[in-house]
Amino acid sequence: MTTTTSSPNAAALTAALPELREAYAALQAKGLKLDLTRGKPSAEQLDLANPMLALPGDRSRSESGTDVRNYGGLDGLPELRAMFAELLDVPVEQLLAGGNASLTMMYDTVVRAMLFGFPESPAPWSREETVRWICAVPGYDRHFAVCEELGIEMITVPMTESGPDAAAVAELVADDPTIKGMWVVPTYANPDGSVVSDDVARALAEMPAAAPDFRILWDNAYALHHLTDTETRTAPILQFAAAAGNPDRVIMYASTSKITWAGAGVAFLASSPANVAWYKKHLAKASIGPDKVNHLRHALFFGSADGVREHMRKHREILAPKFEAVTAILADRLGEYGVGEWTDPRGGYFVSLDVLPGTAARVVALAKDAGIALTPAGATFPYGKDPEDKNIRLAPSMPPLAEVTAAMEGVATCVLLAAAEALAGE
Ligand code: PMP
Repeated sequence: MTTTTSSPNAAALTAALPELREAYAALQAKGLKLDLTRGKPSAEQLDLANPMLALPGDRSRSESGTDVRNYGGLDGLPELRAMFAELLDVPVEQLLAGGNASLTMMYDTVVRAMLFGFPESPAPWSREETVRWICAVPGYDRHFAVCEELGIEMITVPMTESGPDAAAVAELVADDPTIKGMWVVPTYANPDGSVVSDDVARALAEMPAAAPDFRILWDNAYALHHLTDTETRTAPILQFAAAAGNPDRVIMYASTSKITWAGAGVAFLASSPANVAWYKKHLAKASIGPDKVNHLRHALFFGSADGVREHMRKHREILAPKFEAVTAILADRLGEYGVGEWTDPRGGYFVSLDVLPGTAARVVALAKDAGIALTPAGATFPYGKDPEDKNIRLAPSMPPLAEVTAAMEGVATCVLLAAAEALAGE
């Protein structure tokens, strides 16, 4: 990930104010209806998995002879687990294949910690006076929503190019037993595209934590979602944690939501044997087994871990030009005025744009009035509050390239107009 840094050319911007107002009026007159709000795959990407609509055909048995139509097999279909164990670099015995949403597995993990606690918890978390959680910012709004709904107090630390600021995290967890966990998106994070380095992963795995049941929810949603031909490998944090004597610290999640179909994929959870046993103990009360027909359909479609990697290259061909358009337009339009900083992600689904502090909400409002829907300002921060009102998450995956281009030209106009207004004291 690289970031374009700049400082605003205030004189040029304020001088351009009348011109920017005209450009904005012209933008509004276009009557656009464009949407860069959420990181959904496009129809073209979803079509890549269309052969799955005809699978598993008339097959009702897995390789091992299991009748996938019936109850049972809580761990998920062995052949699909083997494929993703290889891709996620975890032992297959420690990987579960579940339903269609890894977010549900994360939510269930935290809810069960609240209700029952982990094996080494002094008490279920809901009995504690205060439960606190570390959130690196900017981050994923749905992670924050899980904490907010369950009354878990969020503390922020800065994101760096190599993941959450590990020194800040270590300092917080060292003597505060109310801090029970943290979110990490290790590969191509939502929204800043950062990748956790081995050093940061090792530091998080090794750091002393005052809470005996401290957990890192390692959400590897974009593990395989490369935008360049460098196929970045995720830091092997489960191995680091085990080697450091903290085998139960990390729970990993992933899914095929952005590999096959966002609404009908397969989600995965991997962790230490003790954590997997804990998760399954509670899961067994909630389910007699996952959708193994969907597991088999996925296993047959991919054939092997290499089949998954090959499939992801097709996604890349569709996605990379859209990301290139976003960063090219930002550089072309904002560069001239030295406004803004943005990421140039090597993978994942987002570009993170920092506008002139104090203007992000105004930019989003201007864009809305010109028919361009953006993720609400503040969404990348806990409680929806960006203290500097500067971060905007851009999600270019879903619209066709021509729409991404039109939307980004419009966004650039809004960013410049909001900055010019602010600098002119309006
Ligand atoms: N984690 C992250 C970081 C995401 O960006 C997303 C999707 N936007 C999810 C999880 C959701 O994953 P799933 O579809 O498997 O629930």
